[in-house]
Amino acid sequence: MSSSSSVQQASQSPVFANSPVYRMACEQLRSVAEVMNTDPGIIERLSIPKRSLIVSVPIRMDDGSVHCFVGYRVQHSLTSGASKGGLRYAPSVDLGEVAALAMWMSWKCGIMNLPFSGAKGGIACDPAKLSRGELERLTRRYTEEVLNIIGPRVDVMAPDMGTDEQTMAWIMDTYSMKIGYACPEIVTGKPIELGGCVGRREATGRGVVYCITEALQELKIPAHEATAVVQGFGNVGSVVCQELHARGIKVIAVGDRYGSIYNKNGIDIPELVLHVNEGKRVTEFQGAEIIPDRELLTTPCTILAPCALEQQITIENASRIQCRILAEGANGPTTPEADKILNEAGVFIIPDVLCNAGGVTVSYFEWVQDLQQYFWNEDQVNAKLKDLMLQSFHRVRKLAKERKLSMRMAALSLGVSKVALEKAKRGLFP
Ligand code: NAD
Repeated sequence: MSSSSSVQQASQSPVFANSPVYRMACEQLRSVAEVMNTDPGIIERLSIPKRSLIVSVPIRMDDGSVHCFVGYRVQHSLTSGASKGGLRYAPSVDLGEVAALAMWMSWKCGIMNLPFSGAKGGIACDPAKLSRGELERLTRRYTEEVLNIIGPRVDVMAPDMGTDEQTMAWIMDTYSMKIGYACPEIVTGKPIELGGCVGRREATGRGVVYCITEALQELKIPAHEATAVVQGFGNVGSVVCQELHARGIKVIAVGDRYGSIYNKNGIDIPELVLHVNEGKRVTEFQGAEIIPDRELLTTPCTILAPCALEQQITIENASRIQCRILAEGANGPTTPEADKILNEAGVFIIPDVLCNAGGVTVSYFEWVQDLQQYFWNEDQVNAKLKDLMLQSFHRVRKLAKERKLSMRMAALSLGVSKVALEKAKRGLFP
């Protein structure tokens, strides 16, 4: 059987087939398999996650009632080391989405040369509608339910959409109470006081902007002439905005789940950050006008950075996108059909698996520091992050030029081949 047909068969597995995001991840793997000379058996193994756990997470709500949430943890592979991946709290979370995100984490760790495999977890819930107490009970009960398949050498979680440092602190505490000693290396992205790494919170956004800076240089666009549009103003999006602003790049439009704003002269990002930190909405910001959400991604700009959800740039809006650089801060924001349209239009695409890999890179630094109980300062963290991001950016760029591949195909090829090579060398058990 060819690599391509084995992936196709796997993506039609009834367990995952209903998920458009999982089908999209398999479609990408199928395209990579076509340009790679890899054993179809290994590609087939890579197209189905190693381990997927679905758990019920019952908690007592503040009003005394009991509500049962559904949680997931998927370990795409354990070949390259402990599996690593975020924990997402969002209404959209389902098995297929988590499995796709876990697969992308494997490729991301491969591209960055990190000794990790990919994993992802999530709970289908709307964290904005839960109190702090409910979130804590939810997190602790979920940790208890997945306890048998996590561990500092097995599977290490980190924040993703809807989760943060506090979530990681609750996981760390629950796990540590179970095993009887403090175990900071069970999670990354936790508070500094508990063994977190300086610069981890900002790492994903910083990595995105290191890549954007390289792309601007290659396209010979001076920063002061560039404009940017950013979707999402959470962990990734807000840091991307701040880092762009710090480099003199005008951020002209920003959107989040509540709406979008625009100012052709550039939004005052430090003021917007203060405004949002006071608990106010982006759309309540005085220094910009509100625009319809559907106009955000199609606003003409130099840099478009989707930093919110998957599947935002689709066949519906791709031909109306007017940017020179697409920097994918979010995971999977562009569908394969839209990707083709943007490539043909000559957009410089920095694909998610490379662009947002700064987060897992500093998570790796955090894990190493926790294991050694020896901590670095922020300058050391940022310098090492920049070094690894630029190395990977240029490795991908070189491969893309040499093999005449798109940046996405080059990045995925590097990631997939690293994992495939390790699988081939280890052989098939038993
Ligand atoms: P977050 O929860 O901190 O922020 C998400 C943002 O997206 C919020 O501003 C939210 O309002 C916005 N949003 C949600 N629904 C939206 C919609 N329908 N339209 C517009 N905006 C919407 O999450 P985050 O950690 O910033 O993650 C964002 C993306 O980046 C996700 O795809 C995540 O997987 C990816 N990512 C995050 C990290 C990390 O370190 N946090 C690392 C790699 C990739």
